[in-house]
Amino acid sequence: MKTAFIAFGGNLGDVIPNFRSARNSIEQLTGIHVTSSSLLYRTPPLGPAGQPDYLNAMIAVESELQSLELLTTLQGIEIQHGRIRSEHWGARTLDLDIIAMGSLVIKHDRLNIPHPQMHHRQFVLRPLCDIEPNWQHPDLKQTASQLLNALLLAGEPILPKGLVW
Ligand code: ATP
Ligand code: CA
Ligand code: CA
Repeated sequence: MKTAFIAFGGNLGDVIPNFRSARNSIEQLTGIHVTSSSLLYRTPPLGPAGQPDYLNAMIAVESELQSLELLTTLQGIEIQHGRIRSEHWGARTLDLDIIAMGSLVIKHDRLNIPHPQMHHRQFVLRPLCDIEPNWQHPDLKQTASQLLNALLLAGEPILPKGLVW
């Protein structure tokens, strides 16, 4: 049994109902139990210009699944929620990324854990700090709150306060 953090992102369609539905789908999986949910943040888009703002959130789960099984399962839930893969970082209804699984480190062609961009992204670190500010990055040896503080100290504007969803 491992604690995994799953990041939610989306900027197309009815994002909040879609996030709730995806969270319910994850809760209903055999061998997974959702233990907490972060607040929901509105964030400017990465990648191609002219996209709507994103909404981002995170959940923690206790999972018996192997990491690649969890990835495949989450990709199925993205598709059930209208995800169509087109341009890199393009607009999407639902993106589910595995941010970390305990202190596991995986470097595989389909799966990198911790997510390689997580420490550069306030839209990942803010919700992670809602859930588990003392989680420690297994390579960088810094906690989620230290990684977030580093972004803020570097001058990144703080995201507006999140909402319960
Ligand atoms: P980014 O990874 O920069 O957030 P993205 O989420 O838009 O970009 P996707 O198109 O959703 O990228 O995914 C591309 C591939 O990333 C997936 O097919 C998957 O195999 C791979 N991948 C690697 N590590 C992870 C991870 N930790 N969580 C989810 N997918 C991952
Ligand atoms: Ca992503
Ligand atoms: Ca993704």
